[in-house]
Formats: sequence, structure tokens, C-alpha cells
Amino acid sequence: TEEDLAELEWREEGPTRTERPLPPVLAIIGRPNVGKSTLINRILGKRVAVVQDTPGVTRDRVRYEASWNGRDFIVVDTGGWEVKVEGLDLSVAQQAEAAIEQADAVLFVVDATVGATATDEEVVKLLRASGKPVILAANKVDSQMQEADAAYLWALGLGEPYPVSALHGRASGDLLDRVMEVLPEVSQVGGRRIDRGTRRVALVGRPNVGKSSLLNRLAGEERVVVNEIAGTTRDPVDERIELDGEAWTFIDTAGIRRRVHQTTGADYYASLRTQSAIEKADIGLVLLDASEPLTEQDVRVIQQVVDAGRALVIIANKWDLVDVDRQEEFNRELERELVQLSWAQRVNLSALTGWHTNRLSKAMNAAYENWHRRISTAKLNSFLGELSAAHPHPVRGGKQPRILFATQASSCPPRFVIFTTGFLDHGYRRFIENRLRESFDFAGTPIEISVRVRE
Ligand code: GDP
Ligand code: GDP
Repeated sequence: TEEDLAELEWREEGPTRTERPLPPVLAIIGRPNVGKSTLINRILGKRVAVVQDTPGVTRDRVRYEASWNGRDFIVVDTGGWEVKVEGLDLSVAQQAEAAIEQADAVLFVVDATVGATATDEEVVKLLRASGKPVILAANKVDSQMQEADAAYLWALGLGEPYPVSALHGRASGDLLDRVMEVLPEVSQVGGRRIDRGTRRVALVGRPNVGKSSLLNRLAGEERVVVNEIAGTTRDPVDERIELDGEAWTFIDTAGIRRRVHQTTGADYYASLRTQSAIEKADIGLVLLDASEPLTEQDVRVIQQVVDAGRALVIIANKWDLVDVDRQEEFNRELERELVQLSWAQRVNLSALTGWHTNRLSKAMNAAYENWHRRISTAKLNSFLGELSAAHPHPVRGGKQPRILFATQASSCPPRFVIFTTGFLDHGYRRFIENRLRESFDFAGTPIEISVRVRE
């Protein structure tokens, strides 16, 4: 699923060769309304706003960077349980299961004023089976008098319940101390992290734009191009090519070298193949034939890279065939079709003559670095504070949404979550994106901004 992919990306992010240890992951799980979001706000040390969930719509899982007593860890907010009358228990169990699997430890939150429900007991079974350390938080213990409520939760069989008041902060420090005791120094759930060794690139574009020529040029050798009937050989072959001392893995070059004929149905398979190569890559290199008008198919391939959240380098090939008039026309075509993509890295070159092919690796490196970029929460918030002070959101229907707090939830590509008091206009979001791009270098990478409205 998409969530799994996002998860995987998270694991795989960071320059792969430096092998940066991953901070441990703490998942917060519990039924709706037990106070998970309030507790997360406590942990993050901010009054972070919470979205009002639309019933039936699953909030996506969000990760936050947190620290306590100088130790960094990741908090995973499992989001709202899917609110459905039927099958509520099932979906709670499923979401809890996924969250548990991807965590080093679990903070299980129960509302002490309500006590343990049948759903809580189901989740306990999953927690036991996982063998992961679990801290049981008995929330809404706002005063000492209520501590007896917490004691009832011993019955869950998860050990000592920690009475806490997320709302008032009561005993939340003690709870975090306890959490720190069970969290490992370095994440142990990173087993799925693939040490890819090299940066991965998908060289894509419609037929005849020059993919095979460029590949040969970059690999520094002419290879025999075999004509084959589409689909006779199915194994994708990845090739490792070094550019200016940096190793890159070009994904599924067999598909490029084979020069699959465009017969009936081949378009469809070519498009699937493109999609699969993009998904395996960090960067999409999209080749265009600058000597011909931009086609719908060109735009589609570019969109595939953006939609997959990969870094993007647009290559205008066959520049040797392009005169000044055509150059201008081509630039206009690009501007018109790719209005929103002015951030993409672009290189004009000729695979045939080799002109400017040496500029490619610089663009690829920049896109790759920016795709990994992380802005600290402090920097991000001071940036947004200044921005919204200088350019407040326009008043809508007598109301003016304010930005409360923001955080970068992940990178590869950079994803930001902004907490506000009301919905932000599309235009204002775009404005924020543009300013973010101006202030921090995000050339070559898509960025995502999501807004969460506090109730
Ligand atoms: P979530 O659905 O688990 O994320 O729960 P929320 O954090 O949104 O909290 C649900 C409701 O419980 C809100 O009205 C909170 O203000 C309230 N709440 C959360 N923690 C506490 C607490 O420690 N004491 C009391 N009295 N109310 C709390
Ligand atoms: P692919 O189908 O995308 O792999 O494209 P090819 O690499 O097979 O190239 C298609 C045609 O375009 C071939 O005839 C190439 O010689 C030609 N071609 C590729 N790159 C260039 C270039 O930079 N300039 C010119 N003039 N022709 C090129």
C-alpha cells in the first residue's frame, strides 16, 4: 500500500552510504478520544493542533521528531481509527498491528475514566504477540484522587499503568522517563532498510527521445542494440554507471537497450515498465526530444515522476538539432505545460554529440540532495512565523486562519505538516511552497505540504 511505501521510504532515507543510525520509533496507539493527540502535543512540547477527523476518512500516519533528556526519537501518530459503525474493532486492530510492527516500543493509551474496553483488550493481544516493549498510559488522571481509576488497568496484564494527564501535563515527564528506559538507542525496526549502496535513477521518456543513446554515452561505450520482440526477455537489468566519481544505478536498462517495438498494447506495458522503474528509483531523469513539439506522453511521464514523489531532472535532448527559434518555442512549450514544475532541474544536451552531457551529474546530485533535505522544526517555525507576520492569510468570511506550528514529517520527498486554526487557501499554500523553495534549496524535488486544522 501507499502507506507501506511511505514507511519504506522513511527507512531508506538519508544518504545511504553514511549509514546514519535511525532514532528509535515510538508508536502511540489507543482508541479514539483517549487523548493520544493531546499526549503527542505534550511530548513535542508544543500546543500542536489536531485535525478534526472526518468520520470514515482515515487520517494518515504522521511521524514527528521528538526528544527527551537529550535523546532523539520518532513519535508515530497512528492517526484516527477509521470510524465505522461496523467493523470498528477490526480496523482498530489492523491499524494497531501495522503501527506496532513498525515501532521499537509502543505507548498504549487508555482513558482511565472509561476503563478498559473490549477493543482495548483486543489490542492487548496484539501487543503481547508482538513482544515489543509496551508502556501503558492511563490518561485523564487529572488529580491524585483519580489515581485509583488507573489502578484498574492492571487488569489488562500489561504491567504497571502510568497515570498521566495529557491535558494538564501531570506526570507526563515520569511517563517519558519510563518510555526512554524501554526505547533502544538505535532503531531495531530498520531491518527493512535496504542498503542500496548507490543512488538510483530511472531514465525514462517516450520512444525515440534518445534514452538508449544517452545511456550508451554515459556508460562510455557503444553496445550492440538488439531488436527483440516485446516481452521475450523479461528480466530487468540494472546498470551501475559512475558519473564524476559518484556511482548511480540505472534501473531497468534492459528495457531501454532492447528498444521494444511499439506494437498493439506495447504502450501500456511500456508505461507500466516506466512506472515500476520510477518507483524503484530516487530520481527520475525524463528525456524530451527538444527538436519536436512536446507531447502529451512527455507530460505524462514527467507527472508520473512527480506523483511518485521522486526527484526530477528534465533533459532536453537533441539540442544539436535545435535552432534559436526552436529553442524559444521549446521553452514556451515547457512553461505552458509544466507551469507548476519550474522547480525541476533541467539540462539541455545532445546524447549524439556528447554536448553538455557532463552537466548531468551536477543536476542529478543537486536534485538528490534536495530530495533528502530536512529543515529543523525550529527553523521551519521561525520561517513560517516571519512569513505569516509579513503576509497574513487573507480574511475569509470574517475569519483569518492562523498558522500555529509546523513540522517536517519526512523527507524523500520533503513533506511538511502545518497546523492551523482554519483551512488555508490554495493560493496561500502555494505562496508558502514558493517561499519555502526560495529560502531553502528544494530545486529538483517535489515537496508536499499538508494542513491540519485544529478543531
Ligand atoms: P485522541 O482521539 O486519542 O487523539 O484524543 P484527543 O487528544 O483528541 O483527546 C480527546 C479529548 O480528551 C479532548 O477533548 C481532550 O481535551 C481530552 N483529554 C485529553 N487528555 C486529557 C486529560 O489528561 N484529561 C482530561 N480531562 N481530558 C483530556
Ligand atoms: P530511445 O528510443 O529513447 O532509446 O531513443 P534512441 O537512443 O534509440 O534514439 C532514437 C533516435 O534518435 C536514434 O536515431 C538516435 O541516433 C537519435 N538521437 C538520440 N540522441 C540524439 C541527439 O542528441 N541528437 C540527434 N540529432 N539525434 C539523437
